[in-house]
Amino acid sequence: MTKADVKSDLLAKDEKYVWHSMKPYKPEDTMVAKSAKGSWITDVEGNRFLDAMSGLWCVNIGYGREELALAAFDQMKELSYMPMTQSHEPAIQLGEKINQLLGDDYVIFFSNSGSEANEAAFKMVRQYHQQKGDYYRTKFISRYRSYHGNSTSSLAATGQAQRKYKYEPLGPGFLHVAPPDEYRNDHSEKDQWGAQDIDRVMTWEHSESIAGVIMEPIITGGGVIVPPEQYMKEVKAVCERHGALMIVDEVICGFGRTGKPFGFMNYGVKPDIITMAKGITSAYLPLSATAVKREVYEAFCGSEPYDFFRHINTFGGHPAACAVALKNIEIMEKENLFDRSRALGEAARNELSHRLGNHKYVGDIRGKGLLIGIELVEDKDTKEPLKVSKVNQVIGYCKDQGILIGKNGMTVAGYNNVLTLSPPLTIEEEDMQLLLNTLVDALHQL
Ligand code: PLP
Repeated sequence: MTKADVKSDLLAKDEKYVWHSMKPYKPEDTMVAKSAKGSWITDVEGNRFLDAMSGLWCVNIGYGREELALAAFDQMKELSYMPMTQSHEPAIQLGEKINQLLGDDYVIFFSNSGSEANEAAFKMVRQYHQQKGDYYRTKFISRYRSYHGNSTSSLAATGQAQRKYKYEPLGPGFLHVAPPDEYRNDHSEKDQWGAQDIDRVMTWEHSESIAGVIMEPIITGGGVIVPPEQYMKEVKAVCERHGALMIVDEVICGFGRTGKPFGFMNYGVKPDIITMAKGITSAYLPLSATAVKREVYEAFCGSEPYDFFRHINTFGGHPAACAVALKNIEIMEKENLFDRSRALGEAARNELSHRLGNHKYVGDIRGKGLLIGIELVEDKDTKEPLKVSKVNQVIGYCKDQGILIGKNGMTVAGYNNVLTLSPPLTIEEEDMQLLLNTLVDALHQL
């Protein structure tokens, strides 16, 4: 059988048996991956692709690191499973390590995915308020364009209407405000950061009904929306004024993506709760965590029968996943990947600004660390979003050259016009250059 025959055979079975995510199935658009090393994926035909999106923004230390495979292997031989009603060494060590990275006193609850980490956070926040005697604090505020997961509450918190269409009603009690979009400047001069908008909504909704706010430090999948420096601090102050807790969703921004261990560290705030997934294991195994400030955790230590957190998942905190996470973080520290992300990302944005700043379709180039967004517009004065067909042309050109880049997903109608780059933090400099050159060429082809 030739490689092409193997591929068509696999695709025929794939089409028959496997239900894929997020788009109508098209065999010609489906890569059947065979192996991956570093930043490169090889498909079953032997074609190689530079993965400038780290899978789904998650393979932070690159593919094929044997140390992580060995960590899982050793742990599975030693102790293959233990539910988190009990404990085990890798979970204890990982809890301690995450605390050290967070630089404060947090207690860590483990789950398997970002959605679950957020779902746990919502339950914790509601229960926390109940146990403090604040029985009406049930509502959460998040921003339009954000994505927080696929489960009914994390999707309710999501600010992308197209993802919810045909699935509603979702979890009740989720309100949305505009994101702090400096490029489109949605806010008035007095509230250029949009934090006062949150203040107003909390007041209008009745302050005592607000449980919390959830936000990514930088909106990632919704178009790489980098807030102004003061925004998170202002939001934290607003939360404190209204007695609401601040949940920061670090599912993508965490573990070096923005050039710091966690994205919020760019903005001088101490969140009450931090959720994380993806980069925690560089996606070698599923794992997520909800880190909760000790003061909040202590509300769950009372002596009433239902004071404890009645929430469990079979696989959360799996010993092998925790062992892999520990090894992953060790590699990030040893190879200085947080600083590397910051330096490489900054250099890439400078180069793109230099080479594309005058391009007629390039409205804005932004990001932090190796999280980069390029907003494409039909017209720089009106900022009308570039037509999706043209955005797809850029992505298609790159793919034809063997480079996989992304675009923001199903954001607010009409704004699917931001190209996204989120390569492994280990990307070789020459591969980064290849990526930038190809992207510039792709835009010049338009
Ligand atoms: N939060 C953010 C910011 C995300 O980008 C995602 C997934 O892309 C999630 C939460 C949900 O994570 P998961 O897909 O692991 O459930």
